[in-house]
Amino acid sequence: MDVRVKFLGGAKSVTGSKYLLEIGYKKLLVDCGLFQGLKELRLRNWAEFPIDATTIDAIVLTHAHIDHSGYLPRIVKDGFAGPIYCTEATAALLEIMLKDAAKLQEEEADYIDKKGYSKHSPPLPLFDLVDAEKALGMLIAVPYLELIDIFENVKATFFDAGHILGSSIVSFSIQGDTQQKKVVFSGDLGRYNQPVHQDPSPIDQADVLFIESTYGDRDNLASDVEGQLATIVKDTFNNGGCLLIPAFAVGRTQLLLYYFFQLLEKKMIPACEIYIDSPMAISTTNLFKAHPNDHKLGIGREAEDSIFDYPHFRYYRSQESSISINNIQKNAVIISASGMCTGGRILHHLYNRLPRKNDTLLFAGYQAEGTRGRKIQDGDATSRIYGEEIPVLCKIESIHGLSAHADRQELMHWASQIEAPKMAFVVHGELASATHLSEKLKEELHWPNVMIPNYLESFELFSGI
Ligand SMILES: [Zn+2]
Repeated sequence: MDVRVKFLGGAKSVTGSKYLLEIGYKKLLVDCGLFQGLKELRLRNWAEFPIDATTIDAIVLTHAHIDHSGYLPRIVKDGFAGPIYCTEATAALLEIMLKDAAKLQEEEADYIDKKGYSKHSPPLPLFDLVDAEKALGMLIAVPYLELIDIFENVKATFFDAGHILGSSIVSFSIQGDTQQKKVVFSGDLGRYNQPVHQDPSPIDQADVLFIESTYGDRDNLASDVEGQLATIVKDTFNNGGCLLIPAFAVGRTQLLLYYFFQLLEKKMIPACEIYIDSPMAISTTNLFKAHPNDHKLGIGREAEDSIFDYPHFRYYRSQESSISINNIQKNAVIISASGMCTGGRILHHLYNRLPRKNDTLLFAGYQAEGTRGRKIQDGDATSRIYGEEIPVLCKIESIHGLSAHADRQELMHWASQIEAPKMAFVVHGELASATHLSEKLKEELHWPNVMIPNYLESFELFSGI
């Protein structure tokens, strides 16, 4: 039997992760992500899928992030008929994220329709809610660490990757006619010694390894997040204002809540209310409560003791309650989405608070080039919101060290636990990061065969096994 891989995304880029394994006559897709960011990449979402979707026998997902899962509704629309395997928490998160992704697609098509610059009339979304619901119906949620039958001769085990709720490293055991082989996908790896998630699980052996390289050329400055946050909150309150934090609904918001719980409990900041103004962040926070064994915050705690039920936390779901926050003048923290200020409720907070010189806007995550968040962070004097140029008069702050991705040292530490794989592919990283990591794997760990694949490139992994 022969085994091949084809890279349909996540090659020399951090988005669009899709790796097609051809195992004998079977086709297995690992991850099914959307391309994001640069237009040249995003156009790939709209191009004809490089292989016939009806010929794919199964999909396995490492985690729920849209750059790993967001193409699912489209591939289903194109004829993929299931099944889709993932961890239990990933399935629960996808329920929130794919519906949200479909809503965004439909809104974008509507917007283009109103602007009148579409080739289609009316413009078509990449997928809609019906497609998303169909994909959700194909999910098969499996527990960590159990050996799962994907095909008769292929089994999979999911290990905790410590990256986001439900994230996994997936190990495939492939039984050939004469030999058994192990193929491992790192998925996105989390950081070590973090408050919310476990360390990435160690893997001891792989014949072929696919390793992510998002921060393959960077060591995140391990910074005193609590101390930095405390200083910013106190300065803002002394200045008679509120602190506004744009944050991703999944992961980042919950990590911030952990830090605010600590700061308030230790009285490192004055007693104050923390407003969580994002329905998606609230739904995700509830999932953390429903999956207490999948993160550290659940360990040794009764469900009713969850830090997320802390009395200082105010969850605002309705639009009216969201708008009422605009009346709060001082001594409050407001967390809202989207994390890069590209849409969502954060917009009306920015509209109201950017001109208030007593307030502080705090960036707690990476702001990609071209986004509104990046422009404000880079010092633009105004920001265009709801068609108006809004002056940026509030204070702008940034803190680092909250990343959900392993840095260079952590990637190397994880890799050092694996007996040198015969073949390794460095994926999910820009070229500079992937190159740097691949050099280190060769030089320091003496891995014999490390490759950085190109988009749509194919490789033979095993022949005649
Ligand atoms: Zn991820």
